[in-house]
Amino acid sequence: MKILVLNCGSSSLKYQMMDMETKSAMAKGLVERIGLPGAMLTHRPKGGEKEVIIADLPDHTAAIKLVLQAVIDPNFGVLTSLEEIDAVGHRVLHGGEKVSGSVLVNAEVKQAIEECFELGPLHNPANLAGIIACEQMMSGTPQVAVFDTAFHQTMPPEAYIYGIPYELYEKYKIRRYGFHGTSHKYVSQRAAVVMGKPLEKLKLISCHLGNGSSLTAVKYGKSVENSMGFTPLEGLMMGTRSGDLDPAIVPFIMKKERISGDAVNALLNKKSGVLGLSGVSSDFRDLQKAADEGNYRAQLALDVFVHDVKKYIGAYAAILDGVDGIIFTAGLGENSPLIRRSICDTLGCIGVSIDDEKNEAAVGQEVDISKWGARCKVMVIPTNEELMIALDTEEIIQKM
Ligand code: ADP
Repeated sequence: MKILVLNCGSSSLKYQMMDMETKSAMAKGLVERIGLPGAMLTHRPKGGEKEVIIADLPDHTAAIKLVLQAVIDPNFGVLTSLEEIDAVGHRVLHGGEKVSGSVLVNAEVKQAIEECFELGPLHNPANLAGIIACEQMMSGTPQVAVFDTAFHQTMPPEAYIYGIPYELYEKYKIRRYGFHGTSHKYVSQRAAVVMGKPLEKLKLISCHLGNGSSLTAVKYGKSVENSMGFTPLEGLMMGTRSGDLDPAIVPFIMKKERISGDAVNALLNKKSGVLGLSGVSSDFRDLQKAADEGNYRAQLALDVFVHDVKKYIGAYAAILDGVDGIIFTAGLGENSPLIRRSICDTLGCIGVSIDDEKNEAAVGQEVDISKWGARCKVMVIPTNEELMIALDTEEIIQKM
């Protein structure tokens, strides 16, 4: 089976042409600057040279048309015709409360995506535009929507309700939704394989640490807590996002800096986090370099980040009533032995003890980095959201 995986952003589009026999990408690519001058597509066939195409791309329909042309191009394409594509799997940010799993796209699903425009203003309109463009160009090819929020719909009310008047939840659906669901779902499934135990018997904490970061408590295969909230701003301090704050800080900044609510929102999303704190960069490699050179604020940003992760791990260990395994994934979780070491060094109380050699060597592969006999396993598991989307899509198509 061949599945096209699409991840449409407001002005960009990432894609992978997946071969489900080998569970790997035959080609992957990125379209940038959709609707802007200088739009371009970068296409990488597996094992081949990258191809860059500059084109006028006024909207997502034009972008997807170009992607489909690239995929079947006689020189650098990987298929002979679009007929070979069995299904399209779309990453969709927000499914609100109606969607608790991946679904075959129909009128009702499109309506649900549209109803969540306000909750995911940058992503949901682009996700829907991608779906409509595919319907126009590949009518008859089934499409599946895979939601970032869906995995967390198993959270119990005590985990998702905020301490504000209940009417606000009823009126506006203000509650915790949780994000990065596709990644947390994928790595927790893989962790069970690495541990050689059924997922349904495991209590796991999944740490997705990248530019955006979140933790999930996964109990017997189901998400019971995620550190992101109503939007992806809550939780850990991130690359440019503040994470948890006393909400009273928002009106205080508005008053003192004489700026609007929207401006504070932008400040907390784009100018805060390790970038705002350090004044150096949102990239953890730059921060580490600056900290090694004696930059106090860069070191402080790293310390706050590590402290935040530990705090959530402790809270989730309590929620789960014990932890069998901790998973590190995404850019930082997969690639920084130092961050993993710093986070784990006070977790002996929950049975964590990592092997320094295994920790140093673990890059880009699924591996258990715990010391032999440690009660709580620590694993590095590279995330693969595209494969998870393709697997969910395959499962749904096979049931049709
Ligand atoms: P996104 O949330 O944008 O998908 P990624 O998961 O790609 O982000 O993670 C990006 C982050 O991972 C960056 O801050 C980067 O500094 C960090 N990172 C990547 N490789 C390393 C590394 N070798 N050491 C430390 N940090 C790394």
